[in-house]
Order: sequence, then C-alpha cells, then structure tokens
Amino acid sequence: MTIDSSRLRIAIQKGGRLSDESKKLLKAIGIKFSTRDRKLIAHSTNEAVDLLLVRDDDIPGLVMDGVCDLGIIGQNVLEEESLEREAKGNAFDYKELKVLDFGGCRLSIAVAEEMDYNGPQDLQNARIATTYPRLTEKYMAEKGVNLSFCLLKGSVEVATRAGLADGICDLVSTGATLEANGLKEAEVIYRSKAVLIQTASELSAEKQALIDTFMTRIEGALQAKESKYIMLHAPKAKLDQVVELLPGSGTPTVLPLAGNDDTVALHVVSPETLFWETMEELKTLGASSILVMPIEKMLN
Ligand code: ATP
Ligand code: MG
Repeated sequence: MTIDSSRLRIAIQKGGRLSDESKKLLKAIGIKFSTRDRKLIAHSTNEAVDLLLVRDDDIPGLVMDGVCDLGIIGQNVLEEESLEREAKGNAFDYKELKVLDFGGCRLSIAVAEEMDYNGPQDLQNARIATTYPRLTEKYMAEKGVNLSFCLLKGSVEVATRAGLADGICDLVSTGATLEANGLKEAEVIYRSKAVLIQTASELSAEKQALIDTFMTRIEGALQAKESKYIMLHAPKAKLDQVVELLPGSGTPTVLPLAGNDDTVALHVVSPETLFWETMEELKTLGASSILVMPIEKMLN
C-alpha cells in the first residue's frame, strides 16, 4: 500500500453514525470512490483524493498532526481531543471549514430516574462515567462543581446500575437508551454536529485549490438540499400577491400560457420548501398546478 502525498487525504469514519453521510457528501461534490473492499485507504478514481477510513476517535489527531489534510468528525470528539491535547500541552491546531447538516446529537449528564435532581450542585464530588471527561469537567467546573470520572469507551449507560458511577455523561439523540436503562437527562452540556476540518499546516497550491473547489461545491450541495424549484399558474391580476407569498422569491420567471391571456406560469427557486398552508393560500388567490420540486445541484 502506497500513499502519494500529492493527493488530498481525507479522513472519514469507517463505519458508524457519521460514515454513510460522510461518504454521501463526498459523492455529492463529485468525488468518485468505492469503499467496498474494506481497506484503510480508498483511492478516488476521478480526483486526486485518497480517503482514509478510520475510527472516529482517530480523526481529530490525524488532521491536527497533518497526517490527513481534511477530516469529517463530530464536534464532540473534536472538542474533547482539543481539550485533552491542551491539558497535556500538545498542539491542537486545525481549521474549521464547515459545520455540516448531519450527526446532530447532544452530550448530556444523566442520573438515576429516582434521584431528586435540582441542578448541577446536586452532583458535587460525584463520580461520572463517560467517554468525554474533558468536556464534562469543563462544563461542570464553570458551574462550580467538582467531579471524578470513570472512563468508558462503550456501554456507558449501564455504569450507574453496575455501581461504577453516580451518573453518566453520554451522547443522546432521542433519550430512549437512557430511559431503557433507568436514567433521566439532567444537564445538556454540549450540542454537536458533524464538522469538516482542515489541517493547520500549509498545503500545496494544488491541494488548496482543490479544497476551495470542493468548498464551493459543498455550499451548492447544502443549499440545493434546502432549496426547492416551485412552479405554478397564477392569475395575472393577482401576480403581486402570489409572489409575496412565495418564500424568498426575489425575481420569479413569468411565462405566458398559450391561449390564455389572464393566467401566467411562474417559476421560482426558493431557499426553503413551501408549506401546505402557503400552498392553500396561493390556491385561494387563484393559483393552480402548484408544483414543488427538489433541486439536485446549484451553483450561484
Ligand atoms: P468508531 O467505531 O468509529 O469509534 P463510535 O462508536 O465511537 O465509532 P458512533 O456511535 O458511530 O461512534 O458515533 C459517531 C458520532 O456520531 C458521535 O461522536 C456523534 O458525533 C455522532 N452522533 C450523532 N447522533 C448520535 C447518537 N444518537 N449517539 C451517539 N453519537 C451520535
Ligand atoms: Mg469512536
């Protein structure tokens, strides 16, 4: 296995909650690759890009140490690694390029359901089981609460019942796992999303240019995801009122309809979707044939 350092190296999670969305994003910006053969490295077939498929915990370090040029990682893992390195006096530089629209979750302290919890002070000198001791310590220290930790990389949610800790601090999305383990959410200490980061080391002009191109494409891909192409027929007399109802429509395209002088066709790219309520209001104004369509790509 050889690594060509002239190719842009991107670290993504091999398998897990960020894996599919990370790959989807890279494909959406035109990078072709296959990860089917379960190797550590996947070479892109159309761009000077190599993907490194690793455990998510390794991604911040790979980027901070300049082993990879880019990485996609949860802010929770990135921030924990930064705090850890800072505490040890090690370098933890990186550039944040873009907060992404996936991987949303919160890091929360949870305690036994039967505990009478009134606030952070109730956890003074408690022992907390977590994968994220630095983030937890930072938040609670700001509240004047001192903690000790039981470090666990997995199965954190059983720690309280197993008598290892007084509470846990773990990632939550719905809270179902907490409930199933007899826990309740006590404090939300950090909200996280996936983020795209770049090494702080200077890159070659070619690599930097490629990153800049990808960033423009990412903006386009994210914008396209939220935007809709809206088409409808509207009575000429009500055109102003119809346009006013369309979200963010500056200058719609107005087209004549064959054999109908009173009605026009209206096309507009809207930065957000059209709600049923708005569609119904449009209909009340006399609009018809209202179509809302997804947009695949966009370049402004
Ligand atoms: P790996 O094997 O790569 O170390 P992992 O088990 O540490 O994987 P995952 O469970 O795949 O990690 O989660 C990866 C990231 O996904 C988390 O760090 C977090 O940023 C994000 N995430 C989003 N929703 C959730 C959730 N409900 N629970 C846990 N993580 C979530
Ligand atoms: Mg991990």
